[in-house]
Amino acid sequence: MVKDFLSLIKPHGIDVRQNEILKKYTTLNIGGAAKFFVNVNNLLQLKTVLKIANECREEILVIGAGSNMLISDNGFDGVVIKLRGEFSNFYIMDNNVVSYSGVMLPFLIKTTVDYSLGGLEELFGIPGSIGGAIMMNAGTKTSTISDNLDYIEVIEITNPDKVIKLTKNEINFGYRKSGLEGFIIVKAAFILRKSDKDILKKRITEILIERNKTQPLGTFNVGCVFKNPQDGKISSAKLIESCGLKGFFCGDAYVSEKHANFIINRQNATSEDFVKVIRHVIKTVKEKYNIELEPEIKLINIQL
Ligand SMILES: Cc1cc2nc3c(=O)[nH]c(=O)nc-3n(C[C@H](O)[C@H](O)[C@H](O)COP(=O)(O)OP(=O)(O)OC[C@H]3O[C@@H](n4cnc5c(N)ncnc54)[C@H](O)[C@@H]3O)c2cc1C
Repeated sequence: MVKDFLSLIKPHGIDVRQNEILKKYTTLNIGGAAKFFVNVNNLLQLKTVLKIANECREEILVIGAGSNMLISDNGFDGVVIKLRGEFSNFYIMDNNVVSYSGVMLPFLIKTTVDYSLGGLEELFGIPGSIGGAIMMNAGTKTSTISDNLDYIEVIEITNPDKVIKLTKNEINFGYRKSGLEGFIIVKAAFILRKSDKDILKKRITEILIERNKTQPLGTFNVGCVFKNPQDGKISSAKLIESCGLKGFFCGDAYVSEKHANFIINRQNATSEDFVKVIRHVIKTVKEKYNIELEPEIKLINIQL
């Protein structure tokens, strides 16, 4: 008999909600309700939630900063996990940084810069959590989160009893991928290098200015929607722009005039509006260049 998640989780004193609207947890401001939404504060709670969800055959979705996902207006028919509490801690010792996965990357970078530690600064402006950044192997033209990684600690969703340590070379990092599907990232350790604080500060200011110039910041967006083809060698933005697609829209979802690889939710875009724009962009680029653009963002409960 399939058991009831809610009645099994409640005695553990874990904050669980039903029908929590997910759009407020995303930078795109799109997404319907989660069947169950849990705020998890520590490792024990995480293991408990996973065990009970497995017993009840509920699907799991971890949400970091929600800056790389498009969630269906139909929501998610399972358990959404938000890592809080202990998962927002990090420690710095000499040039070693150990961060739980719920820490926001920009905050971690600012702090490491204050400690005169270099290595993460090129990633400044990526508005994700450490967990999301590692899952996506987030990066820029000059660096990725995996560059300075030492090891991570993960929990396997289907076998949550033990924490597994994976060193960098045990992870299949590639262009915007980590191969860590099926795992929840708990912690990440980085080895940074002593650097000149003023130079680091200058660099993050430059990056911010450049991002402001080239990206439609301050809008509801998910950053670049498509991977750059050929493992990043071809610019999707250039392909999309040269197809005349800047400004193309469906409902309230439109291709940014500032950066053609950004699709913006003007205010009340539905997931379907967004998907229609994605489909049209893929089709148009394919017809003109015979290149199949692949979404970089995670589509939750959505088929293209
Ligand atoms: C304005 C803007 C600019 C951006 N610029 C860049 C850029 O330059 N480079 C770049 O690479 N990306 C960029 N992004 C995309 C995004 O910020 C990154 O991919 C980021 O790393 C995603 O982190 P997140 O916490 O928001 O992940 P989410 O969107 O919450 O999740 C992404 C995926 O990771 C999984 N996940 C999250 N946390 C965990 C965890 N602890 N364990 C296991 N799985 C987890 C989720 O289930 C999902 O599959 C940008 C986005 C925006 C809005």
